[in-house]
Amino acid sequence: MQAASLPLEQYTGVWVVADLVDGVLSDTSQELLTPARQLADQLGQSVSMVILAAPGVDSAALQECVGAAGADQLIVIQHDLLAQYQTELYTRALSGLVLERHPNIVLFPASSMGRDYAPRVSVRTGGSLASAATDLALAEDGKTLRATKACFAEALFASVESPTARPQMVTVRGRAFEKPQAQAGKSATLDVITPTLSADIARTQLLEVVKPEVKGGKKLEEAEIVVSGGRGLKAAENFSLVEDLAGVLGAAVGASRAVVDAGWRPHSEQVGQTGKTVAPKVYVALGIHGAIQHLVGMNGSQCIIAINSNPDAPIFKVADFGIVGDVFQVVPELTKTLKEQNLALSL
Ligand code: FAD
Repeated sequence: MQAASLPLEQYTGVWVVADLVDGVLSDTSQELLTPARQLADQLGQSVSMVILAAPGVDSAALQECVGAAGADQLIVIQHDLLAQYQTELYTRALSGLVLERHPNIVLFPASSMGRDYAPRVSVRTGGSLASAATDLALAEDGKTLRATKACFAEALFASVESPTARPQMVTVRGRAFEKPQAQAGKSATLDVITPTLSADIARTQLLEVVKPEVKGGKKLEEAEIVVSGGRGLKAAENFSLVEDLAGVLGAAVGASRAVVDAGWRPHSEQVGQTGKTVAPKVYVALGIHGAIQHLVGMNGSQCIIAINSNPDAPIFKVADFGIVGDVFQVVPELTKTLKEQNLALSL
């Protein structure tokens, strides 16, 4: 595959490359339709949502869903070898279409998949890449995409622009944008592409898919309430305090790296720089110190509640509500009261 160098104005269209897991669009993929629509309207261009899937995916249902969410077109790249994510196959299939159609902007969720293949697609297609953006806008020239991203553990925010490279590709963090409101009567066209792919190009073999256990049915990065525990819980078995409170609140369970490193909790629950970024409506931190590497993963939360025995713990600097106290005394009382009075947080 060879990247052609075309005049910039020949690159047109804003694409959102979606994560489709078990036939369902991820929340972040849907959220990306919001900036995609705004940018496309400003540029006078169209919005396409692109999915990669095996034949049999319910294209009609997805077409209806993405149309109502503001996309003009659904492009389904369809092949038996795209049933499960595999780096080389997804990279080849998407790069081929990008080289053929020359989109102007291509947005990916900053998910494990997006972070893995967006850089590869950008190299193969001669495009630019900004990673883990939290905001998107057009620069002063009205043509160049400006992606904002946090650097040095959010000590500063950088604007990334690529005025001479096309397509302009960006991976975008979850919860950076609201999902678009569904609009009745709006529809998207459907374009199904079957790429030429061979299993030989895959350098890895998929042996098994192991899904992480999702406590309380809530995915950490998509939950509206997260209750996280840290080393202040003292031992793995004491995480029942976190789980009980999360259960009453209908929340997902998170953890600091210290407890993940100690083997108390799986890495899929880790919040922070080397874990997940969450931005729930309410984040409850139990026995978590508030190291900067933890804070960067949760300080976009709308309301932070911290319980810590040390009044000087840095978590209190970012907390909206704080209780200086022992988690072993405060949390069971809190859970009991919420349970007895059937109090739920009204969000
Ligand atoms: P501690 O620092 O041990 O804090 C425990 C807290 O519990 C203390 O504040 C203490 O006052 C409180 N406490 C103790 N007993 C009680 C009690 N009975 N009741 C109430 N409170 C109590 N960390 C992350 O979390 N996520 C990351 O993604 C991450 N990535 C990192 C990446 C790098 C490159 C590095 C260098 C570090 C990273 N870390 C990350 C680690 C981070 O620096 C901290 O070491 C870690 O967050 C500390 O976890 P903690 O707050 O649970 O533990």
